[in-house]
Order: sequence, then structure tokens, then C-alpha cells
Amino acid sequence: MHILLILGSASFVIAAKSASGAFYHTSSAKACQYFKTFYPNSTYFSNETLYTEANDAYYTSSAWLGPACVFAPTCAQEMSQGVKVLTDFNTHFAIRGGGHMPISDAANINSTGVLLSTSGLTQLDLSSDQTSVSIGPGNRWANVYKYLEPFSLSVVGGRMGVVGVPGLLLGGGISFFGNQYGWASDNVVKFECVLANGDIIEATGTNEHSDLFWALKGGGNSLCLVTKFELRTLSVPAVYVGEADYGDSVRSKFLDAVFTFAVNGSADVKAAIVPIVRWGSSQGGPTYNTWLFYNGNQSSPIALQNFTAPNMMPSSNTFSYRSMYGWTQETDPPMSQIHGFRQRFYVTSITASLEAMSIIHDTYFTAAQARLSNVTNFFTGVAFMPISENYIAAGNDRGGDPMGVDASKAPYIWVEQSLSWPDPADDSKIEEFLTSVNAEISSKLESLGVTSPFLYLNDADAGQPVFEGYPKQNVERLKKIRARYDLHMIFTDLMPGGWKIEHT
Ligand SMILES: Cc1cc2nc3c(=O)[nH]c(=O)nc-3n(C[C@H](O)[C@H](O)[C@H](O)COP(=O)(O)OP(=O)(O)OC[C@H]3O[C@@H](n4cnc5c(N)ncnc54)[C@H](O)[C@@H]3O)c2cc1C
Repeated sequence: MHILLILGSASFVIAAKSASGAFYHTSSAKACQYFKTFYPNSTYFSNETLYTEANDAYYTSSAWLGPACVFAPTCAQEMSQGVKVLTDFNTHFAIRGGGHMPISDAANINSTGVLLSTSGLTQLDLSSDQTSVSIGPGNRWANVYKYLEPFSLSVVGGRMGVVGVPGLLLGGGISFFGNQYGWASDNVVKFECVLANGDIIEATGTNEHSDLFWALKGGGNSLCLVTKFELRTLSVPAVYVGEADYGDSVRSKFLDAVFTFAVNGSADVKAAIVPIVRWGSSQGGPTYNTWLFYNGNQSSPIALQNFTAPNMMPSSNTFSYRSMYGWTQETDPPMSQIHGFRQRFYVTSITASLEAMSIIHDTYFTAAQARLSNVTNFFTGVAFMPISENYIAAGNDRGGDPMGVDASKAPYIWVEQSLSWPDPADDSKIEEFLTSVNAEISSKLESLGVTSPFLYLNDADAGQPVFEGYPKQNVERLKKIRARYDLHMIFTDLMPGGWKIEHT
């Protein structure tokens, strides 16, 4: 049986059904032809600049997959029409926000499919009472902070400006304000969504879609396409924030300071750190560095004192009082230097333990130096992210989320490995390194009993068991919610990339 869609003078054979009712014919070319006919200004083919901008603007160049075309809706209604057309044509598709998830097919697709870009959805609207801001998914955090700066406001959002709003929020979202206000997604007050059948709905904590509201706070991209996030604002004109470098000879002091911060993390919830140990194939030993943050006008808060003299003397330190937008102007420009690089993340989760941190540090960097010194322009960082009990409790106070991290086992250290290199010819070497070094780390950690099942979605490598680390009852609930809103699993099967609530 053929289904014909007749619109104006155009007529398309959009799909064919087998006797069993299953669709067997997909046609990205026909879907693209449809979009170009009816949305010529929002549809781009590979010979157009805006196509290249969409396809080549992913953080990892392994995601430059070359979709059949790019469709960039300019409002929720166009996104809804896009979903209906792609479903009718049975065409595979992907959706992208800021493009920063370093997994090749998380937010892009090759020529068998269509890329939905959110670049036309960049609205920013402060509510009249200034308590919340509506954010289109085409925004990056720098746009949001810049928009809010004149109002002396901020939000619980990304720590770098270049990262996209949608991916960070749908995966949970770690922010500098986390110890005070929990996950970034716990601070969303409303999602506007396009469902798999094209309906546009709003989900809040108290309306008839409160189940979806809960699910979107860490449930990934298999539930709906978000066309607007309404986020609670914070009355924060400026913060103390900056980057401190310590050189290469502070290993023990640095790990001690991070561990102590983790253990005392709930003592002053206004403080945050992002401690990173870095190594590159052109250098000797690893170097030590941290971002320091304080939500207040205090130049030397007690919670951060271990990161300054006399405990550790930074060789440089940019810690200063400025707006969040001002901070993004320090961190974002250098990112252009790695445009076109390959990127991978891998996450390990432990309850705070200095011994485990040392094992991870030593195992990782010894192996990297031994095996990756000959990878040209390779560099890597290991971030030891302290997560306090208060971080989890603050999120739970705002209604909780599907991630369901166990507050009673906090403090945690979520360890994020990030790896960057320019040459695709080195991909397999990196793959082998990641597999073997993490097998070695796991086996060394086993006897300590510190490994925690929760793996942060936005820091995970493809194939890591993310949803398996959520409480079982939450995964069951997520699956029921998906069945309510997307019975045919359009956003799981027809949109295959990204983190999906498991199939069974
Ligand atoms: C340099 C850098 C800094 C980072 N800093 C932080 C940080 O401070 N805190 C933190 O928590 N994480 C951080 N991350 C991780 C980051 O949160 C994830 O990579 C996140 O997925 C990026 O969001 P995005 O919109 O840019 O990604 P994209 O790659 O565009 O999208 C990520 C996923 O979301 C889906 N998606 C996108 N838009 C929509 C939509 N409208 N509806 C439904 N699904 C959608 C995509 O399909 C994809 O699966 C950082 C990553 C990098 C590379």
C-alpha cells in the first residue's frame, strides 16, 4: 500500500507498507525534497554554506557525518511538521543543539537521514516578574548569560559558554551552582515539546504532563524534541570565578585538596571547583589546574583555601569577580583552536576516596605516557568532579529526577576523562587505550568497593551503561512514560542517535 501526501501542487510517494504493516522504504532524499519545497529558507543541501555550518560545527569531527539535508525549523509548529513528515516518510533523522556531545552519531546522521538543527530556535525571553527565562534549544550557554547580564541575573547552566543548552539539560547538567541548587535540569520549570505524533505540549511539575517533565530531567533524547526550556533565574549579577595553574609538581597536594573539598563539599555550598589533571604528547609529566568558583563577592573563601598559598601556589590565577558571561569570554575563545579535532569522553564514578583517586590518576597517566606519546598533538584531561550530598539533596528538593543518585553514599567523585587528537588515523589507537586503561582501572578499584553505578550521561562514552546506573524503578517509569508519549518509539528507532532508555 502506498501512502500519498498531496500538498499544493506537489505530490510525493512517502512510504510503502509491507503486508505485515512494517515500513520498508525509507527516503531521506524525498523528505529533503519535501522540506526544500515547503521550507526553502530553512532547508540546506550540501552545496550550501548553512549546511556546512551545521554539519561541521560539532565538537568532535567524527560527528561530521554528512546528512542528506539539514532542516532548521524556526518555531515549534515547523518542528512539529518536520517530525510528522519524517515519520510519514519513514526517514531516519537526528537532532542537534550545540553539538558538544563527543559521540559521532549522538546528534548527527549520515546521508541516509535528515538532520534537524535547532539553530533557528534561539529565542530568549525573560518572564515579566524576571523569575524565569524561556530559552530556545538553539542557544548556547554564552547566549543565555549574555542575555541575562543586564538584568543582574544568571541561571543554573553550563560552566562553559560554547556548550549547547538542550544536551546539557536533557542529560542532567552540572553547573557551578550545583552544590546550592542541584542539577541544572532540576531548575527547569517548563519544557515545551514536540511529541512523536507532532503534538506540541508543555510539561510542568504540576500539569497533566508532569510525568514527562520528570523524565526529561536526565532521560536523554528518547522522549520528545524540546523546543523551549523555561529555567528559573538566579539573582546573581557576578560571581568569583577563575582558573588556577599549578605546574607539574603538586600531584599529592592537588589530589589531597580535591579530596578534602569533596568531603567538606556541603559545608559551603556556594563554592565549586573543576580540578583537571592534563597531559599532552608533547609534554613530560601531567600538569595540575583547577577552575575555582564562589557564588558571592569573596576573594578568598575558606572553602577554596587549599587551592591557594600557602598550601599550593598557583603559577597563574584568574580568580576574579565578574558575570557568568564575562567568564565565558575567558574560556570560550581557545576552543576554536581545536576545531576539527577528534574528541572522546569516558566517565568513572566513585564514592570519595583518596586512594581510588590516586589509583585512577597514576594508572591513567602512566598508561597514556607509555602508549600515546607518539600520537601527534594528542592531549587529555582527567577531571575529578566532587559531588556533595547537598548537590543531590538540592535537586531532590526541587522534585527530583530519573537519575536518582543515592545521596546517602555522597560525597562522590565523578571522574571524566577527555581525549583530543587531530588525526582520524589515530582513532583505533585511542580506542585500544581507552578500553585497556579503563579495564585496568576497574580491576584495581574492585577491591576498594568504591565504584558507584551512576555514570553521568553527558560525560559518558558511547556504550557505557548509563541507564543501567539509574535506579531500576526509575528506568521502568521512564519506559512507561516513553510508551505514553511515543508508543512507536519514533525518537528511539527512527532517531537512533543519542542516549536511549533501553529497549526491553
Ligand atoms: C567543552 C565542553 C564543556 C562541557 N561542560 C559541561 C558542563 O559544564 N556541565 C555539564 O553537565 N556538561 C558539560 N559538558 C557535556 C555536555 O553537557 C554534553 O556534551 C551535552 O550533551 C552538550 O549539549 P549540546 O546541546 O551542545 O549537544 P548536542 O551534541 O547537540 O546534543 C546532545 C544530545 O541532546 C540531543 N538533543 C539536542 N537538542 C535536542 C532537543 N531540542 N530535543 C531533544 N533532544 C535534543 C541530541 O540528539 C544529542 O543526543 C561539556 C562538554 C564539552 C565538550
